[in-house]
Amino acid sequence: MKVAFVASEAIPYKKTGGLADVVGALPFHLNKLGIKTSVFLPRYKGIKGSLIGNLQIDMKEKHNVQVYTEGHFYFIDYPKFFDRDGLYGTEKGDFSDNCERFTLFCKTVTQLIKRYGYDIVHCHDWQTGLIPLYMKLDNMDTKSIFTIHNLGYQGRFPSSKFPILGLPKEYFDPEGIEFYGDINFLKAGILYSDIVTTVSENYAREIQTSESGFGLDGVLNKKRNSLVGIINGIDYSLWNPENDSLIYQKYNNFNGKQKNKARLTEECNIDCERPLIGMVTRIADQKGFDIIIKAFDDFIDMGFSFLVLGFGDEHYHNKLKTFESIYPDKVSVNIKFDNKLAHRIYAGCDFFLMPSQYEPCGLGQLISLKYGTVPIVRKTGGLADTITDFDSDTLSGNGFVFREHSSKDLLKALSKSYEIYCNKDVFKRLSEKCMDCNFSWEESAKKYKQLYGSL
Ligand code: ADP
Repeated sequence: MKVAFVASEAIPYKKTGGLADVVGALPFHLNKLGIKTSVFLPRYKGIKGSLIGNLQIDMKEKHNVQVYTEGHFYFIDYPKFFDRDGLYGTEKGDFSDNCERFTLFCKTVTQLIKRYGYDIVHCHDWQTGLIPLYMKLDNMDTKSIFTIHNLGYQGRFPSSKFPILGLPKEYFDPEGIEFYGDINFLKAGILYSDIVTTVSENYAREIQTSESGFGLDGVLNKKRNSLVGIINGIDYSLWNPENDSLIYQKYNNFNGKQKNKARLTEECNIDCERPLIGMVTRIADQKGFDIIIKAFDDFIDMGFSFLVLGFGDEHYHNKLKTFESIYPDKVSVNIKFDNKLAHRIYAGCDFFLMPSQYEPCGLGQLISLKYGTVPIVRKTGGLADTITDFDSDTLSGNGFVFREHSSKDLLKALSKSYEIYCNKDVFKRLSEKCMDCNFSWEESAKKYKQLYGSL
């Protein structure tokens, strides 16, 4: 079976979040199951590869697009659109031509799928949403799967851009890709693919409700018989403290972990004696920064230190930086994308915080488990599927879980975490129990294989 993955980011090339981890790792595990998988990406700034061909793409006028390759990756090259700093925009907002950029990408990949002959095309997120529709219009035999990694990002553009897509005008309709007067790429992916998946079972249920459906719950409900939740895995060849060369010292137990904490707190100039909460995250509303900001003084008073690595919303950058200046020896705020520091945070913190408003799967909590860094999460999406609240009597559970999206509930979970931290023996057992949790890709890759087979 030949499968083409199509996405807007993948490690080892470009990454802004968990999508890149998934698109980088899953093909490798599918290959192990006998499924030959290629990956199609835009050729962003700095990506090299070898030139293998070019195509004329009709998008209002003819565009000359080149194709590069390296290993199992194919890169769509159109420098005017992709040779930029940033994948989707800047700190100030999205690029104004994202509709044009990803329409061109979808049109080009559809032609290549046809040219190279694939059994299945597996599209990821809104940037690839038009592909199943273009394939249907071209009567292609190739089947399509569309995976939603985050329903909150839909690729919504004004109707004035509809002619760019080159679609018959009847598709601009509420039964088609129109969404409250706009174009919606994600809706196209959902409607015209053969199967829709999302990245945890719980999130697959949540997105069919009006509270979490971002206006697409009705459309998803209609597709419920072909909507499947499959939890993401972790690539333990990259994320494992036993052989991680990016951390200060490799380890496989609690004592080894403490050496990483000592070095991390020294490097970031924070007090090593206090329990340390870490975050590695996009800095966005989704990730719960509103309730963190409200609870901030209280959890520092409780006795915690706080270390965040992230990039995103300028308004939160400023708030966090203010806290850093108020608590210089207890708070470290790192506004950037930095893979090495990310590894060091997973290794050196006591707790990993994810108080998300919603979380399709969440990789941070799964990575932190492997490093014995105890997750503190809100019970939503994939966080609810993977983390259960710790019970000190039975020693069951692998983290701390709170329900309400409120600073009050967050503080309750933090207070319980602090209490457990103070009981060194119990905390050590909890941390080592986390290290033993297994969220590797094997099981999930088998589920994808089954789905492909069903098509
Ligand atoms: P999302 O995909 O919603 O951003 P996930 O928890 O699923 O969130 O995945 C985030 C991934 O991106 C993790 O691998 C995390 O370590 C990484 N990451 C996020 N922000 C940064 C950053 N500023 N520097 C390095 N890695 C980051």
